[in-house]
Amino acid sequence: MSSSDKALMKIKDLKVHFPIRGGVFLKQVGKVYAVDGVDITINPGETVGLVGESGCGKSTFGKAILKLIKSTSGSIEFEGQNLNDMSKHSLRELRKNLQIIFQDPSESLNSRLTIEKILSEPFAIHNIGTKKERRSMVQDLLKKVGLPADSISKYPHEFSGGQKQRIGIARAISMNPKLIVCDEAVSALDVSVQSQIMNLLMDLQEELKLSYLFIAHDLAVVRHISDRVAVMYLGKIVEYTDADTIYKDPKHPYTKALISAIPEPDPTKKKKRIILQGDVPSPIDPPSGCSFHTRCPYAVEKCKTEAPVLKNYGEGDVEQQVSCHLAGEI
Ligand code: SF4
Repeated sequence: MSSSDKALMKIKDLKVHFPIRGGVFLKQVGKVYAVDGVDITINPGETVGLVGESGCGKSTFGKAILKLIKSTSGSIEFEGQNLNDMSKHSLRELRKNLQIIFQDPSESLNSRLTIEKILSEPFAIHNIGTKKERRSMVQDLLKKVGLPADSISKYPHEFSGGQKQRIGIARAISMNPKLIVCDEAVSALDVSVQSQIMNLLMDLQEELKLSYLFIAHDLAVVRHISDRVAVMYLGKIVEYTDADTIYKDPKHPYTKALISAIPEPDPTKKKKRIILQGDVPSPIDPPSGCSFHTRCPYAVEKCKTEAPVLKNYGEGDVEQQVSCHLAGEI
């Protein structure tokens, strides 16, 4: 997709296929095509939203680009260096620049450690500062994420869901990273808390010049934070463009259905909801041709046999990559 020399991260043709084993000798009997040939570029200071239904491969993709899980093939370049070619030592150093915020802060924080211990850990791992200096760095982090100074001696269970996510954010920014994968980071929170956390993420982005890959199952959530949005279906990107265009002029039938599900705040405006038939097919045995054809209201014969590829359907300077045989006609 949109390649750029100034790119912070360039992911090309990334595949993550998990083997399925069976029988007495646990031979490979199949594969889960979790991520199946994804190209994405993330520029400095940019937020790319990655959206799709549960199980479409978006979280696997987020973890694979941070090398938290092994990819099957493809390249992941960070500031021009291919992560797949790096030694363990160099990768460890580089990891400071690549962080993740998980969906459930309760699960990602060790309940037996104080906040001071949790937030000092990355400094200790990378041999940064004395104990006293680390304490002061933790105090700075708490301030940055809007938590009171006395939080330092408390335990995770003493905080609300939103506060725990602030601690998760503090941990993610502790090493001054350049890119953070926000993996459904606000999905488990109440709507009002969601917007507070989104505002915090946007403030920190400006202050620390961060880039985000913002993963969510809901297009409404990524709307305000994203510069560009990629829509994923069964391990593939089906549409990728800037945030304004995707909401105003979606061209892939799946994106159109996701947009139609966003509630309309103005009660005088009527909106037709597109209800998709059937469930998401299994990534073990994805449909032939266009993998969306089993649920697409516009599918024609060709869709069952020929897989569409991403092509630019944007008007003027707009780049709008869509993989659909009928893009621009429906
Ligand atoms: Fe629907 Fe065919 Fe387009 Fe796939 S290629 S989204 S099945 S119209």
